[in-house]
Amino acid sequence: MAKVTLKNVFKYYDKNVPAVDDFSMDINDREFIVLVGPSGCGKSTTLRMIAGLEEISKGELYIDDKLVNDIPPKNRDIAMVFQNYALYPHMTVFENMAFGLKLRKTPKTEIQKRVHDAAKILELTDLLDRKPKALSGGQQQRVAVGRAIVRNPKVFLFDEPLSNLDAKLRVQMRTEISRLHNTLQSTMIYVTHDQMEAMTMGDRIVVMKDGLVQQVDSPLNLYNAPKNKFVAGFIGSPAMNLLDATVVQNGALWLSDGKIKIKLPQRLEKKLSNFIGKKIIFGIRPEDIDEKEKAAKQPQTAIVSLAAEVIEPMGNESFLYANTGANKIIARLSPDLNLQNGEEIELAFNMGKAHFFNAENEEVIN
Ligand code: ADP
Repeated sequence: MAKVTLKNVFKYYDKNVPAVDDFSMDINDREFIVLVGPSGCGKSTTLRMIAGLEEISKGELYIDDKLVNDIPPKNRDIAMVFQNYALYPHMTVFENMAFGLKLRKTPKTEIQKRVHDAAKILELTDLLDRKPKALSGGQQQRVAVGRAIVRNPKVFLFDEPLSNLDAKLRVQMRTEISRLHNTLQSTMIYVTHDQMEAMTMGDRIVVMKDGLVQQVDSPLNLYNAPKNKFVAGFIGSPAMNLLDATVVQNGALWLSDGKIKIKLPQRLEKKLSNFIGKKIIFGIRPEDIDEKEKAAKQPQTAIVSLAAEVIEPMGNESFLYANTGANKIIARLSPDLNLQNGEEIELAFNMGKAHFFNAENEEVIN
């Protein structure tokens, strides 16, 4: 069992502005939790407080129901993998992986066994005699993970472990870490600024901004039901279109530049009835916009005519960029889109998939 509980945890570096602001969460045994958000939102600070590398200013941290605020890092039974790997250059892979166990005076035969077991899981067996500089970035990363595995910790912490790798290797290592989680069945807490990494790896994702937790949810819930404008725009690539709009009396939505009017289906008319005459934010994902001719005919569809600004053929799809004046729109259309820049296109917005946010507090309108 390895449960981690944070209760109203705060971190103040500066006494006026909390770097982590009232973080509460129960992380379950064997869960893979990802903390994600833009740089400076407090992800690493949260992780470092769990590791014991940073003091908790206020609040409580429990590991398996034991209060650990004052327990030093080495006694927390936690292993952390850092962004820069922190390998010792003069030691071999074996020695790097064995180092922590030696310090703990683990018997030699036990060290041998644990390092070889971990090397097998990570496919490092043939590299045990090499020094770090004779390894690729991906291999060095695996050694850093191996050093954590041999300790058989209750909880693994990862702080942006893949950000020094190139894009292709990052995708590969992402899968490897997910596989490792399935094999080891341990609790893992993983920090990244990359929403794709978060979506593909997390059982649950914690989205943070300015030290504050915005939403804790499964990847699909975050994607399909973002609680506020920030989460809506942060999760998903290309990002959700977030358009300034005003709700008008007769069941329609005017985009803020006043050129485009979108008819609201009856269900949404009711939902937005308290916002008539008010500004809202209308969100629609690029894949929920299609060419009129290709869209399924259904009552929830709204047709909007726009001039194509830029078309990007991606091979498996085309991105269409359009501009309504105050609002920019991106749509994911079919790869065989036959359109010239500047040409008008009729687009079908699937309003069944639309999101609406209060323009004042940016919270979702339910
Ligand atoms: P993230 O990991 O999301 O990029 P951090 O947790 O590193 O964010 O930082 C959160 C905030 O705390 C930032 O504003 C950062 O500048 C500040 N901060 C982080 N570490 C320190 C420190 N040692 N001293 C002062 N401020 C810090």
